[in-house]
Amino acid sequence: MICREDSLSLESYTNLNIMRKSTFKSAVLVLAAAFCLISCAPEKEKVWGWVSGNLSMPDEKLEHYFSKCKEVGIDAIIMECHSGKPVVLDSTSFRDSAALEIIRRAVPYAKKYGIELHAWMWTTNRVEKHLREAHPEWYQVNAQGESCLDIKLYNREHYRWLCPSHPECTEYLKDRVRELAEIEGLDGIHLDFIRYPDVILPYGLHESRGVVQDKVYPLWDFCYCETCRAEFKKLTGIDPLDLEDPTANEQWMQFRWDLMSKMASEIAAEIKKCGKTASAAVFASPEESKKLVRQDWANFRNFDFLFPMIYHKFYAKEDPWVETATREGVEALEAADNPAKLCSGLFVGHVPSDRIPEFLQYVDNGGSTGVCFFSLEGIDNTPEYWDKLKVALQTIKK
Ligand SMILES: [Zn+2]
Repeated sequence: MICREDSLSLESYTNLNIMRKSTFKSAVLVLAAAFCLISCAPEKEKVWGWVSGNLSMPDEKLEHYFSKCKEVGIDAIIMECHSGKPVVLDSTSFRDSAALEIIRRAVPYAKKYGIELHAWMWTTNRVEKHLREAHPEWYQVNAQGESCLDIKLYNREHYRWLCPSHPECTEYLKDRVRELAEIEGLDGIHLDFIRYPDVILPYGLHESRGVVQDKVYPLWDFCYCETCRAEFKKLTGIDPLDLEDPTANEQWMQFRWDLMSKMASEIAAEIKKCGKTASAAVFASPEESKKLVRQDWANFRNFDFLFPMIYHKFYAKEDPWVETATREGVEALEAADNPAKLCSGLFVGHVPSDRIPEFLQYVDNGGSTGVCFFSLEGIDNTPEYWDKLKVALQTIKK
């Protein structure tokens, strides 16, 4: 029996194949589009919310957050699991079973309501007592030669910071990523505190924290650990401790920005390798981030999303700065040829419930991909916020 294809000329055979391929391609595209309609909000309109997670959160509270998000139009929850409470880990493997349990418990609710779940972990700011005792040499040192383990920066017990020049620190954090990524049903991993400690606090916080930071002071200027000093000296011949005005030395600034970018990019690569969405919370605008916390996030590579926390009142800025900071971030990513999408973060306490649409307009005008609210607890604690948010989100999702 002669198969019909056998009788076709080469030309018609080729055409048939092209037709088959293009029909196949169209089918794939239609299927992909259909899948996306079912499972994901268009990114431009995607709405996220940060929420603290803890082991003591009752099931009813998890049910409450996920069901409310579904009801008002929040598509993704970023749940904190590595947090600021000093803990003693239960084994020398450093596996953080509490963090894993927090996320595991949330997965069924995410599935039930069709909400994306991202695990929010603290990154360079690590408070585990076990780690502090095992590796004090991994922690950052200020320009006065004091380890952040020995002083209580800003009177905060949790201000303990790993140094990015130690490859072991990056490996430690990649281990935490891998153990989280094993959780079935988790969509992504979100890095917070991926930076140096605040050399200058956001301007709106100086008075309440009782600090005078009209310039860079050595108490708050990190990292001058042995490794960082030796690496920088190898590169430039200069010991940064000898610099009269360290901030004025471009090489020393760039050295620290680059170290943090390298660490962030390597951890994000690990998140991607595990098949998860990689994202990070970063300071409000690219320039303020570099200046206040030595975080050059436009050069953080391998991320799907970067969330500048544009909590404008902490920077003593007027409301329209939300749009300005968003635009500056988008432009900085473009200039750095960084394909990560920017999603502006808003502080619920700075966005009155009756003016939510105005702020959504700011982030949209600035070029943000979606919007993220800090925090779901903040929404919960503000009367009528859920209802007002629902109405506002309906208008952007039309
Ligand atoms: Zn260091």
